[in-house]
Amino acid sequence: MDTYARFPVELERGRGVWVWDSAGKRYLDCVAGIAVCTLGHSNGRLKRALSHQLGKLQHVSNLYRIPEQEQLAAAITNRSCLDRVFFCNSGAEANEAAIKLARKHGHVVRGIEQPLILTAQASFHGRTLAAVTATGQPKYHQGFEPMVQGFRYFPYNDTAAFEALLNQCEANGPAVAAVLVEPLQGEGGVIPGDPAFFRRVRELCDEKHILLVFDEVQIGVGRSGDLWGYEHLGIEPDAITLAKGLGGGIPIGALAVKQAVDHFRPGEHASTFGGNPFACRAGLTVLAEIERRQLLKHVRAMGVLLQEELAKLVSRHPGLLEGSRGWGLLQGLVLRPEAPSAPEVVKAALAEGLLLVPAGTQVVRFVPPLTIKPRHIREAVKRLERALITLA
Ligand SMILES: *Cc1c(COP(=O)(O)O)cnc(C)c1O
Repeated sequence: MDTYARFPVELERGRGVWVWDSAGKRYLDCVAGIAVCTLGHSNGRLKRALSHQLGKLQHVSNLYRIPEQEQLAAAITNRSCLDRVFFCNSGAEANEAAIKLARKHGHVVRGIEQPLILTAQASFHGRTLAAVTATGQPKYHQGFEPMVQGFRYFPYNDTAAFEALLNQCEANGPAVAAVLVEPLQGEGGVIPGDPAFFRRVRELCDEKHILLVFDEVQIGVGRSGDLWGYEHLGIEPDAITLAKGLGGGIPIGALAVKQAVDHFRPGEHASTFGGNPFACRAGLTVLAEIERRQLLKHVRAMGVLLQEELAKLVSRHPGLLEGSRGWGLLQGLVLRPEAPSAPEVVKAALAEGLLLVPAGTQVVRFVPPLTIKPRHIREAVKRLERALITLA
């Protein structure tokens, strides 16, 4: 079905940060399947680990213990502030699990009959019905009403407005079960969270026993230069959702929670494919490679280099470009309102052999494989500059 306005390009194979189309043209991939291909394309370790797993066991039901799933859960909990993990297959599905958990938290812990969940304007949480309702962007709701009940929206990074909404919701007693928020807004325009805002949100959630859930589907698993986005904000969430980068290209999602808010009991939530041996082997390999290759340090260095190169680009084209922002290898180049739109820039970059993705109409997003090298970053910015010149 025509759910995507696709470019007329057939991508056929990839290696590292490069992909080739069916006509043989080569592209430098700064999209990585939208922050998915953590280790780049056709990574040798991932290929070997998955081939081995295919020869052993691909899928069994969650009716039985799955060692790979238990190992991946341990790999996540040993490296984070979280204690328990539910596995599924996508970001939206992970957020659905978080939304159900939040509602149960509202019933059980706060005694609320009709619990509310607060999410941010310009957020993105996925396209299933509850996840898209959580998404604070009316354009994604259009045509799909009625939306799911029980969501309210606050302006991101705005402490006063957040407190006002919370007070309004709780004027007649407990009403809010959870806050679901991205530590850095990805799709909404690459907007980093403000630590002062998040500290206050944490305080208020602590006071009232409101669940604080971070959607780390895009920023999590090393992309920020720390393993988890919350590490940039100096606070701990009660739960996080993961997907995109966790499987390095194999579909997997996860909800990881602190022990104290592990409210699910057997039979209350499920996913047939969730946490199968194949997907979990992919997740284990991605986490092991991040560690073995010291990719967090690498991402921090590459993030700084990309920021520097983008700053130089901005200074060469002040009429078109406003600046750049982001953490690690999730960076956004902000276009001036009078400049060509982000989709136009992305299209021109494609012609120059560079894959980029918009984040809204005015921001061009870089989310390359975490393995990208300095020469690729310089080449990407060079190709982007050529594209900008063709548009000028
Ligand atoms: C991509 C994304 C989602 C949705 O993930 P899907 O796997 O497409 O369902 C949710 N939240 C954030 C922050 C995302 O970037």
